[in-house]
Amino acid sequence: MIEFREINLEARAPDATDGGTWKSIPLVQRIDPLTRKSCRILSGVKLQPASKPELSPITDVGGFCPFCDNVFESVTFPFEPEIVPAGRIRRNKASVVPNIMAYSGYSSVGIYDTTRHFLELEDFTPPLLNDAFAVMVEHARAIRKVRPDLVWSSISANYLPSSGSSVVHPHLQSSHDFQPMSSQMDQVIGARRYFRETSRSYFDDLVAQELNGSRFIATTGSVNWMAPFAPRGFQEIWGVFDTASDITDLSDSNLVDLSDGVERVLSYYNAHNFSAFNYSIVGGGPDAQQIGFRLTFRILVRSNPDRYYRSDVTYFERLLDEPLLDVSPEEVAKAATKFFN
Ligand SMILES: [Zn+2]
Repeated sequence: MIEFREINLEARAPDATDGGTWKSIPLVQRIDPLTRKSCRILSGVKLQPASKPELSPITDVGGFCPFCDNVFESVTFPFEPEIVPAGRIRRNKASVVPNIMAYSGYSSVGIYDTTRHFLELEDFTPPLLNDAFAVMVEHARAIRKVRPDLVWSSISANYLPSSGSSVVHPHLQSSHDFQPMSSQMDQVIGARRYFRETSRSYFDDLVAQELNGSRFIATTGSVNWMAPFAPRGFQEIWGVFDTASDITDLSDSNLVDLSDGVERVLSYYNAHNFSAFNYSIVGGGPDAQQIGFRLTFRILVRSNPDRYYRSDVTYFERLLDEPLLDVSPEEVAKAATKFFN
């Protein structure tokens, strides 16, 4: 059994609605059983947006965009021929090209649709998502074939400037390194520890234990969707794969299942006036299969873009690595489930 640890921190605070009378306020700290990272679920604080922001001042084409079709082929570069003989990887309107910003051994940027400068959340259809994920996976396989030492792969995305994105044209990015990212290592260390202690896959046990519980949302084929017990950010939802352990394991049908679920998560966010998100899916490294590591697509919302918006990243998230959450995972799962039915 995976132990979900929750600690009552017994917060004392003056109640502004009752003349400042000191009261006990429910506050729980939850610890993620895999990574042992903690977060706090607050009560009574709701930071949810009441309306949708007007995005056109940010998203209207104003000047040069490297990902728009009119310049895309001339301002982006082909891959090295020993890795991608054709130079470019395209699938329908999606494409992947080398990232000129070198943040990994091999860094690439995928564009969901080079013919549209901006995609609203409702424009992320399953086929569009599927094409973009497919070109990223094809590129990952091409790299792994030539550079088998680059065993740590991931695919991630920022969407809109408030999520950290520097280019508005919707895109996703990948990393291929001989060293893991910090959270990638945390997950793998947790999975190795669990396997050593139980000879079982943490992720398989997690799905089995959460199935039909208050945080479980739905299954789309090979992907199990749930709100995590101890989220790292707002409205976080996970898609845990049933067998795939690395980015290069993802089959065509895995990607169809993933795209189906991602479209539903984005519909849920859109219906609740969220507009910016980050997601990430990390491979489990060289012994991923042996330790029962499973790919987990993690997505969360960020503050809506606004001239004077308040970033949802505070010192708690960035320096203490302890997110403060105003909506519990159980509430997120309950609200998101509707979008899978
Ligand atoms: Zn563009």
